[in-house]
Amino acid sequence: MRALEAITGTDTIKTITTHYIDGAFVESHGRELMDIINPTNGQVVARVTLADQEDARRAIAAAKRAFASFGRTPKEERMEILRRLHKAVSARIADLTKTMVEEYGGVVRFAGPIVQAGANVFLAAERALHELPLTRSWGKTTVTMEPVGVAGLISPWNANAFFLCMKLASAVAAGCTVVMKPSELSALQTRVWLECVHQAKLPKGLCNVVAGRGEVVGAELVRNPDVAKISFTGSAAVGRSIMRDGAATMKRVTLELGGKSPNILLDDADLKKAIPSAFIIGFLNNGQACVAGTRLLVPKSRFDEVKQAIVDTIAAFPVGDPADPKTAVGPMVNQKQYERVQAYIRKGIEEGADVLVGGEGHPPGLESGYFVKPTVFVNVKNDMTIAQEEIFGPVLSVITYEDEEDAIRIANDTEYGLHAYVSGTDIQRVRRVASQIQAGRVAINGLLDDQQAPFGGFKQSGVGREFGIYGIEAFLEPKAILE
Ligand code: NAD
Repeated sequence: MRALEAITGTDTIKTITTHYIDGAFVESHGRELMDIINPTNGQVVARVTLADQEDARRAIAAAKRAFASFGRTPKEERMEILRRLHKAVSARIADLTKTMVEEYGGVVRFAGPIVQAGANVFLAAERALHELPLTRSWGKTTVTMEPVGVAGLISPWNANAFFLCMKLASAVAAGCTVVMKPSELSALQTRVWLECVHQAKLPKGLCNVVAGRGEVVGAELVRNPDVAKISFTGSAAVGRSIMRDGAATMKRVTLELGGKSPNILLDDADLKKAIPSAFIIGFLNNGQACVAGTRLLVPKSRFDEVKQAIVDTIAAFPVGDPADPKTAVGPMVNQKQYERVQAYIRKGIEEGADVLVGGEGHPPGLESGYFVKPTVFVNVKNDMTIAQEEIFGPVLSVITYEDEEDAIRIANDTEYGLHAYVSGTDIQRVRRVASQIQAGRVAINGLLDDQQAPFGGFKQSGVGREFGIYGIEAFLEPKAILE
């Protein structure tokens, strides 16, 4: 197989004109062209033809046809498909990582592990499916968990290869057929990923992928009565529109939205570990991560020490070429995102926070890409804009608290509730604090993951859960038969 089968063009600019429908790469009906720009240098790397409403409808029709048989497959058959997907994606980790670096500037030290996590999620779903009872009965009643139908899976650009794996894994495990609508900014990684899907030889029509604009292809999935469920990862604004517009056809929805996650350092935290960890958590994926811990809550009594530790540690998180394994922070995905981050940095200064490191503008020597300076604000009040809104860039807000109760109050004083982090030495106390945070996940002493643990948001961070049996259940509908 060629390195990028179905991608044509010169070495420098690739061309993608097809979508994946009914088990084949088919020419786009949509005619709109879009350039993919490498954010490290502003150069065009690919030109893609975007799908239109007709492409979306063809994909939905294929998924609907395939559901008639795939929806009735036994567990073992779906488990076998999940194993094949794991194998196929595992074989292309390096290619997927390369496209993530090229296409949105994901640093290689993040992109590699997240792609590997994407491959692993198929095995995690296989295990969860094995453990999940799909039939329960008592007396003369039998309840079976049935796949909900055709699912529309809509994903963002910030680690798209991972989201594609995660959403497909749960849907396949449940017995749903899918139409996937990845972000239009992730055409290259989507294409390599599709080659993996093709290699895995799934039943025709099980997995269809149409890459087009959200307001065209995404909106068609949300409106179309043949789509039973939408699983969406993206911004809160689009999530709200999906919930509203999906109501017309009573769509089941899973919404994974934004966050403004607190990272609480308790007063016995070891700053030698906790501050580097705060940077890893805060600058994750160049700060473009829904789970980024962007509010660093520190005890007032240790504020000076924390400031010193931040100044001493920032040099270990260099900004620069995302392909360099030493780089911790790469560019923002595009000019718009660059400007958005700059606007928030200006807003923080205007509202009275102090820049401890970083600030406005490009880092010196990195003017040609969409690089921003990793920035830490101190003297931030939790009601300031930079402490309440998701910036989606490498910008940390340090907020001081008086005591444990105050830390918990500030942590929960947000409209979001996706993730939280607590660090400290007294583990009983860390657990006590963690238990009082309103968030779908709370990680203790660092950045942690468990692909069987539910992932999703409290409050305005979303609706529903992904991963493990929780993620599969989101694609199932209970049916009771009473004799
Ligand atoms: P976005 O909401 O702009 O786009 C996400 C997807 O929705 C894209 O595929 C887009 O084309 C599509 N879309 C846009 N308008 C649509 C519409 N009207 N109908 C249907 N689909 C539509 O988000 P983004 O900028 O790609 O990603 C960044 C956001 O995603 C951030 O807010 C981030 O926090 C969030 N995010 C959340 C998670 C999570 O798991 N909770 C993970 C990653 C990113």
